[in-house]
Amino acid sequence: MPLLVCDLDDTLVDRVRVFAAWAGELARRHQLGAETHEWLVMIDERGSAPREEFWSAVRERFNLPAEVGDLVAEWIASFPDRYPREPPVLEELISLRDEGWTLAIVTNGGADVQARKLAASGLDQIAHVVCISGVIGLRKPDRAIFDLAAQRAHQPLLGGWMIGDNPREDIEGGHDAGLKTIWLQRERAWPLDSVTPDLTVDDILQALRHVRTSG
Ligand SMILES: [Mg+2]
Repeated sequence: MPLLVCDLDDTLVDRVRVFAAWAGELARRHQLGAETHEWLVMIDERGSAPREEFWSAVRERFNLPAEVGDLVAEWIASFPDRYPREPPVLEELISLRDEGWTLAIVTNGGADVQARKLAASGLDQIAHVVCISGVIGLRKPDRAIFDLAAQRAHQPLLGGWMIGDNPREDIEGGHDAGLKTIWLQRERAWPLDSVTPDLTVDDILQALRHVRTSG
């Protein structure tokens, strides 16, 4: 049965939306303006900015008395649990499972944080295989992490699909591992010359339905 590999952040769950809601609440709670909300979104860099840097900048801008380490710890303790269950996505994944697809989630990030995001969103109950970089010590786009996912899924990479939002980690990495690729473009232009996604879509449901109909 074929293999479907999915990224987590901004692929199966819309992290941009989760982060924006969090930033909006923070801005309201401290009566900060809308520009603060936008600034938080900017320095977050879609989650790729190291949390120590992110919280150093926030602390400095708002003269927060807490230490950076404490702010990071508080963030780690609360943000992952905000990941929502998305019934349409879960239902589509269950349909794929029912049709014989093997589902793997391959995600770069800390062990505890990613595991809690997966639990909060209910995705840990649906995926056959989960590979978290912080657990296994390999990161996308390293081919070895895709190999490990395939090995755990008892499926070949060839003939499988990769869905993700990160051009290098998900699409180039997935392509180089032998998977067909679907890129969630999220209002961006394709940035790489080295590889082109097999399909570009605007949302995850489109991607999952394409995989289903592709057989
Ligand atoms: Mg992602």
